[in-house]
Amino acid sequence: MRNTQHGFAIVTHGGAGEPLDLIDGAERAAKDGHARFLATGDALEAAIAAVVVFEEDERFNAGSGAVLCLDGATVEMDASVMDTRGRLGAVAAVRDVRNPVLLARAVSDTPHVLLAGEGAGRFARAIGLPQAKPVSDIQRDRHRKLLAELAGSVPVMPGLDRRLLDHFWNYKTPLQLPPSTACDTVGAVVRAPDGHFAVAGSTGGSAPSLLGRVGDTAIVGAGFYAGTHGAIAATGIGEHIVRHMLARTVYGWIEAGIPLQQALQRGIDLFDKDVDVGLIAVTKTEAGACSNKNMPTARIED
Ligand code: ASP
Repeated sequence: MRNTQHGFAIVTHGGAGEPLDLIDGAERAAKDGHARFLATGDALEAAIAAVVVFEEDERFNAGSGAVLCLDGATVEMDASVMDTRGRLGAVAAVRDVRNPVLLARAVSDTPHVLLAGEGAGRFARAIGLPQAKPVSDIQRDRHRKLLAELAGSVPVMPGLDRRLLDHFWNYKTPLQLPPSTACDTVGAVVRAPDGHFAVAGSTGGSAPSLLGRVGDTAIVGAGFYAGTHGAIAATGIGEHIVRHMLARTVYGWIEAGIPLQQALQRGIDLFDKDVDVGLIAVTKTEAGACSNKNMPTARIED
């Protein structure tokens, strides 16, 4: 990896466990992020611009492509932003918002750091953010596949006992699961030449899940972290990631001087092999990605 010593760097990802043929989406996100940085000089603006590209691309599980919940009707999304200029904002289980990452950015201007559910949706209306596009065929298809996987014998989401879904079912409509996991988050990390860092992420969440479920993408230190030594974004099954406080844990290793790729690999190695997990990060001198499953990523360094 070339030593970029405080030059601009952006790394994007389209989710651990996503096919590598989606790499064009990750590249487009990185390019737009870079362009935004050139226009604004702001790492967070760049990270957000990259995430918006993913949210607008229905092939990714975020924004317009976010997975349907198990009732086949509801979409609940999480998103977050953080930088070393003091901005920190997240939204959790928010519905009917086209670009949750823009809502997370708006939260960072309020006295709060995290808005959830109905209140987050109302906040989006109050500040005039566009509502979500109608549910697409791609989203319906993905949902059909999820139900088919749930019917299969291979566990879709390691660590999730399907019987618990039955037991705690909290949707309005009755349980209609056949007797998986779709997951994936999108994210971007950015280093500015003056040494400030930013991270942004957005997800339709890991499926299957109960209504109201919130994953790591909305939880600072778990799915995302930015500090004076770098910025980190995680992807994979949130319930596992949160337990390891993954982003902050890896950040601690970077802070302690462990080379980036080694720190990322150590983070991935915390998980069982059957748990999808991926990381992207930038530090003062490095930019990298690491995952235990396919993960479309892209990187631009100046
Ligand atoms: N981390 C996300 C979540 O659990 C999903 C993913 O990245 O695959 O909500």
